[in-house]
Amino acid sequence: MSTSTTAPATRTWSNWAGNQQARMQRVATPSSPQEVAETVRDAAARGLTVKPVGSGHSFTPAAVTDGVQIRLVNLGRLRGADHATGLVTAEAGMPLWRLNELLAEQGLALTNMGDIQAQTVSGAIGTGTHGTGRSSASIAAQVAGLEVVLADGSIVACNALSHPDLFEAARISVGTIGVITAVTFRTEPSFLLEAREEPMRVDEVLDRFDELRTENEHFEFFWFPHTSMTTTKRNNRSAGPARPLSRRREWLEDEFLSNTVFSGICRVGRAAPRAIPAINKLSSKALSARSYVDRSDRVFTSPRTFKFLEMEYALPVEAAVPALREVKRMIDRENLRISVPVEVRCAPADDLWLSTSHGRDTAYLAFHMFQGMDQTRYFDEAEEIMLAHDGRPHWGKLHTREHDYFAAAYPRFADFLAVREKTDPDRVFANNYTRRIFGP
Ligand SMILES: Cc1cc2nc3c(=O)[nH]c(=O)nc-3n(C[C@H](O)[C@H](O)[C@H](O)COP(=O)(O)OP(=O)(O)OC[C@H]3O[C@@H](n4cnc5c(N)ncnc54)[C@H](O)[C@@H]3O)c2cc1C
Repeated sequence: MSTSTTAPATRTWSNWAGNQQARMQRVATPSSPQEVAETVRDAAARGLTVKPVGSGHSFTPAAVTDGVQIRLVNLGRLRGADHATGLVTAEAGMPLWRLNELLAEQGLALTNMGDIQAQTVSGAIGTGTHGTGRSSASIAAQVAGLEVVLADGSIVACNALSHPDLFEAARISVGTIGVITAVTFRTEPSFLLEAREEPMRVDEVLDRFDELRTENEHFEFFWFPHTSMTTTKRNNRSAGPARPLSRRREWLEDEFLSNTVFSGICRVGRAAPRAIPAINKLSSKALSARSYVDRSDRVFTSPRTFKFLEMEYALPVEAAVPALREVKRMIDRENLRISVPVEVRCAPADDLWLSTSHGRDTAYLAFHMFQGMDQTRYFDEAEEIMLAHDGRPHWGKLHTREHDYFAAAYPRFADFLAVREKTDPDRVFANNYTRRIFGP
């Protein structure tokens, strides 16, 4: 085989959060779609399973394998950008931060993004990574075409017109349909966003939730458990001029206070959980308002260096307020101590087969537990509330759901399974997690 394989010492892997580990038979670092195809054919011939891995930012075992791990570190180039159509093609291993830089150089931008930009383009779409938006949906919804290596080693280009079923299935597939080698995005001309960040009482946010999410292009809030306070974020397009935060203020607030200091505070809470409510009250009192105008990707994303575990559920948007009120009551009732805020975001209904916002306007409720603290009771209790509201778990964040649940939750689930059966009957791209979700 001409593809690179690593020495035995590096055949172990752990995800970003450190809660998933893998020991692989082989690690391949192909540098072309043809080398990916060779790797897949070779693995299949040896009876080994294959998993492509991105930046390892999923909390679920989505990218775990004991077979062949494909790292796309050598497949990260820009293939082309067409200004007339806005179509931009990046190789699958390109990190989102690199894509954003290259797009900015071309005067282009993605329409919407999640909170961070460390993921690869293919890993991000693989689990349906989303941000918050009134009318703009997930990153996968901005994809116009894919190049995929299938289980038989064939390299197929697909889009809404050519192999449409393959395209629909491969857009969000938890790595089960094939190895994506290139992603074509539908981009738009660069734009500025005005960010308005402001503390607000949680009762006010919940009372005004519909107004806040419909009056703003991108609305989200973080509620500090054990307190009556949230920090709200309203991002809207601006004609300019740019008014970015100074480098010093950005470093102080986004890197130092939001990561280093917050992590220190969470460590204190981990050592003395009974102090967490008082600590949260102090932290929420320290919140201050700020406003700035900057390039869209710089407003959408910020660094996250402190480690945590996360569960996130997508609910019908009208369930968000009652569900969050139930979560607040549950935290008190169960006497839990939660130091990291609950994040609430929105997305419009879309038609991607496995999108968590498929067919319904959606609100996302995300629950975090600081690294080293046991999340089990918090996540179990919160999950029960999410399930009572017809929730769909994020494919890359912790949950306990299995095949039958997803079959009922996703109207196009059977169509997805049919494509999987056709393209990967021997389950070359399966692991225990995907068997749990999609069946054997
Ligand atoms: C700090 C942090 C912040 C986050 N913020 C958000 C957020 O704001 N919004 C949100 O929705 N999610 C968020 N996430 C979750 C994250 O975006 C997803 O889990 C995403 O899938 C991770 O991308 P990755 O490149 O690390 O992929 P990995 O986690 O490595 O892989 C994810 C899946 O994609 C598959 N895959 C990877 N490459 C390919 C390929 N070339 N072809 C086919 N399949 C492939 C893998 O097999 C796996 O199933 C966050 C996670 C962390 C740790």
